[in-house]
Amino acid sequence: MVTRPDSAGQVAPAGLEPVRTLLNSWLIPNDSRQPADEFGQLARDQRWRGQTARLMRELRDDLRQVVETGDTSDLNDWIARLDLRLAVDDGKLVYRHHGGMAGDLLAAVVGAIGDGSWRRLKACPDCHWVFYDNTRNGGKRWCLMYAGGPGGRACGTIAKVRRYRHRQATAAES
Ligand SMILES: [Zn+2]
Repeated sequence: MVTRPDSAGQVAPAGLEPVRTLLNSWLIPNDSRQPADEFGQLARDQRWRGQTARLMRELRDDLRQVVETGDTSDLNDWIARLDLRLAVDDGKLVYRHHGGMAGDLLAAVVGAIGDGSWRRLKACPDCHWVFYDNTRNGGKRWCLMYAGGPGGRACGTIAKVRRYRHRQATAAES
């Protein structure tokens, strides 16, 4: 499993990290800057075959839409399809389903919506890498504000430089 552009600071809480791994099987690598779909590699690593692999890929694509657009309404279709139900077990809330691994991930997503952590799972507006915003105020926008992790391309810094150059250019014109 490829883990670029990443650093420990962007790792999601335990239940959400497998969701983030699935989402980042589609990525835009730093070196080529060409979108790459590495789902096949992830599926081999996880031993997802046939129907399971097709379901996981479909879930990945839909969850990516949810993360990128912030529109969570598609999740209702998945909740119905995988028969996700809330239950009480030994005084705790649990999710039951018939969705195998896809159901486990969907339960993690729904649980994260419930506890408010879901909105901290974000896609970088530049490279689309999905990261977890561990900052205190939850105001992080880009995958890495400063180059830090292996292969980190510091999208936020690049955007800052672009804005600065733009300001310089417009100041020169006026
Ligand atoms: Zn980025």
